[in-house]
Amino acid sequence: MGGMPSAPNFRLMRYSPMLEQYFGMKSRYPEALLLSRVGDFYEAYGSDAESLAKWLSIALTSKEAGSGQRIAMAGVPHHALDTYMAKLVAQRRVVALAEQLEVPVPNKLVRREVVRVVTPGTVVEEQLLERGTNNYLCALAMVGDSLGLASTDLSTGYVAATAFSGETAIDDAIAELARLSPSEIIADVSPLVRDALERVLAVGEEARITSSTLAAVNGRVRPAIDGFDSEEATAIHRALDAISAFVRRVGFSDESSLRQPVFYAQRAFLALDPRSRVHLELTRALGQNPKATLLASIDRTKTAMGSRMLARWILAPLVERQPIERRADAVQALKDDHTRRQALGEVLDGCFDLERIAQKVRLRRALPRDLASLRRTLALLDPIRDALAEPTLPANLHACAEAIADFDALAADLVGTLVAEPPASLADGGVIRPESDPELADVVSLRTDARSRIAALEERERERTGIRSLRVKYASAFGYAIEISKSNLDAVPDDYVRRQTLTSGERFVTPELRELDLAIQNAQTRQREREAELFEALASRVAERSSDLLRAADALAEIDATCSLAQVAAERGYVRPRFIDESRLAIGDGRHPVMEAILGTQFVPNDLRLETRESRFIVLTGPNMGGKSTYLRQAALLVILAQIGSFVPARSMELGIVERIFTRIGAGDDLASGQSTFYVEMLETSNILRRATRRSLLLIDEVGRGTGTVDGLAIAQAISEYLLEGGESAPMVLFATHFHELVALAERWPFVKNFHITAVENTKDGAPIFSHRVLPGSSSRSFGIEVARMAGLPPTVVARAKEIADALEERPTLETQRPLRGRLGKPQVSEQPLLFDV
Ligand code: ADP
Ligand code: MG
Repeated sequence: MGGMPSAPNFRLMRYSPMLEQYFGMKSRYPEALLLSRVGDFYEAYGSDAESLAKWLSIALTSKEAGSGQRIAMAGVPHHALDTYMAKLVAQRRVVALAEQLEVPVPNKLVRREVVRVVTPGTVVEEQLLERGTNNYLCALAMVGDSLGLASTDLSTGYVAATAFSGETAIDDAIAELARLSPSEIIADVSPLVRDALERVLAVGEEARITSSTLAAVNGRVRPAIDGFDSEEATAIHRALDAISAFVRRVGFSDESSLRQPVFYAQRAFLALDPRSRVHLELTRALGQNPKATLLASIDRTKTAMGSRMLARWILAPLVERQPIERRADAVQALKDDHTRRQALGEVLDGCFDLERIAQKVRLRRALPRDLASLRRTLALLDPIRDALAEPTLPANLHACAEAIADFDALAADLVGTLVAEPPASLADGGVIRPESDPELADVVSLRTDARSRIAALEERERERTGIRSLRVKYASAFGYAIEISKSNLDAVPDDYVRRQTLTSGERFVTPELRELDLAIQNAQTRQREREAELFEALASRVAERSSDLLRAADALAEIDATCSLAQVAAERGYVRPRFIDESRLAIGDGRHPVMEAILGTQFVPNDLRLETRESRFIVLTGPNMGGKSTYLRQAALLVILAQIGSFVPARSMELGIVERIFTRIGAGDDLASGQSTFYVEMLETSNILRRATRRSLLLIDEVGRGTGTVDGLAIAQAISEYLLEGGESAPMVLFATHFHELVALAERWPFVKNFHITAVENTKDGAPIFSHRVLPGSSSRSFGIEVARMAGLPPTVVARAKEIADALEERPTLETQRPLRGRLGKPQVSEQPLLFDV
């Protein structure tokens, strides 16, 4: 590769016109790798060729560059572009595609221009997208102390925006970005914020971060946005502008591709910090099994749009009772009505991805088969509306039915215009019904008549010349010709014009045959052109209804997601959670939804009670593999399910709305992240201390025995004490540990309760087996010794181990014995004498 010249920064030589053209385009899209269509290939030159060869593991060659020099070149065949683009998109590359804008003629430079820039956040090609996942492009803009955040999924046209300000703005914005998990972020922010972005987002999925190239748009009137102050509104508009500009730059019209933005406040959703979302494996698994996520365990949707909707619900549980109850009402109605659920399921199964089809129509990218899919889906809307028409059904289902407009005229149009099974592309014709258009009918009949008119001519010429073996044949080089064998050449009439000599004879044309040939060719071209016009017109008529179609798509998605929750609830015996006003969480026989889906009835249900006075802070002890982490995550997952409007895997569940879930998972379990782990943990911890409220659920899981354990434990305990001092306004806490120092917290604080998980002796071979049952009290300190005894260590060794353990127990290890009063230097609340009763 070394000797190959790259695109030089300064050049002494002149390039050939084609390379001049290439580097001219390249200078307008410096951020992208430029692939330019040359005949049957997409080619890159210079340093782009080197990158392309490396990224795709393809051959790097070279090309005459003009003035006797050579330049690096790499290329891919045009028919394999999709495959290669998929690889580039997976690597989060940015690729500009230049097309030939005219039919090439020899010795003349073809006009080429970049028609599309494919970036990770603006992919709309369905073969490059996951069907059940939204692909977000986000923009972050800073105005004063406010951060505006806009997001869009260009494949559906959905746009949403929010803003953050105050001390926690950056954390909040990052948490929101982590929730959306965009594949690309346009960052119009200070270097400081950008650093924070890069550091924190690296913990989860990697997104491409692009600096905004926009100058601030000045002087435009900015409409106010409800719920946001003027600085926040300005930041939101800046972020939306950045999205629009970016969308235009990559080759789409922003007006037709982006829907009206939905403005929302982040506090409308249950807050989860980025790492908690990762650890709870809501939509992405950490381990080997990709199906081990909350989403996968409850996703019975029939359509891709339903699946995306369910994922959005899971990533944004609600914090207001009324909308939650409304969703639960709908789930309940469909859970209780097996027949209706079944019927809806069958119809939904036949529906295509209406949302992405409607968007393709808006983007002017719809192909014949997209409209055929649309036609099939429209035919299914009536049965869906009918199934939800009953007045006794809950409001949400009615609303969905009402959101599906009447598309009868459009459906009839599609039926009347499009053939029953259109081919994949418009190139060969045969997409539009000829009877739908007189002009098309003419040209098609001309074309289909061709054979018989040619046959008639052939017959006539045979008679005229008396040559029985005369044939009219199609030769790709020059069209239709009359073929005469050698022995009959004498009988050829004067008006025949010789075109070609074959070994067996000669080929001739006649003026009449030329005319017929031309007419057929014309008919072919005109058919293609006319069909393209008619298809374009049909697509425009569909586009006129695109907002209605998108609304219907949303309704279908909601019905699908609701049916899915109802189906799972019915199959797995989930119950409807009961919401109460106070901050309390009571679960009877709760099960872990993901583990239960895998283990079935082997899963051991457990109760959980987190209340104001008696038990607000649970310390859970027990040996490794006992089920502590499972129990903690289960609590969070059940709260999340309850607050998306789902039923829950339990015998009963009562909860006051939870506004935040925090998790603090010890580093031992956190193999995914690298050295910055501790720093990130501390960021999270300070976040917890600043924000934990009465309406928060905090999970602390001290796993492993790594070197950091003592630090981790000390910090965790300090956090606990700090939180406990909040008294009634303290968050609900579940604290899992296999160290016993924390058990003493219960002696000091009345609402700290100890629970434990035990092992029982296996009667067969004496090996310990876990009951996975959570029981009151702390576990036996000598569990390890117990296991040693079961494993057959000599009794003297076991006895000595006991002695040592007892001695260690005498020694106060951590600071639980120190009075807490005044340590934090803030006045203590006196209504809580119990708390400080040392
Ligand atoms: P710990 O955190 O105490 O080390 P885990 O929660 O990681 O334990 O659980 C260890 C294993 O025990 C799990 O992978 C699962 O197979 C099993 N397990 C945990 N809880 C239960 C339960 N309630 N019922 C059945 N099996 C369970
Ligand atoms: Mg664990």
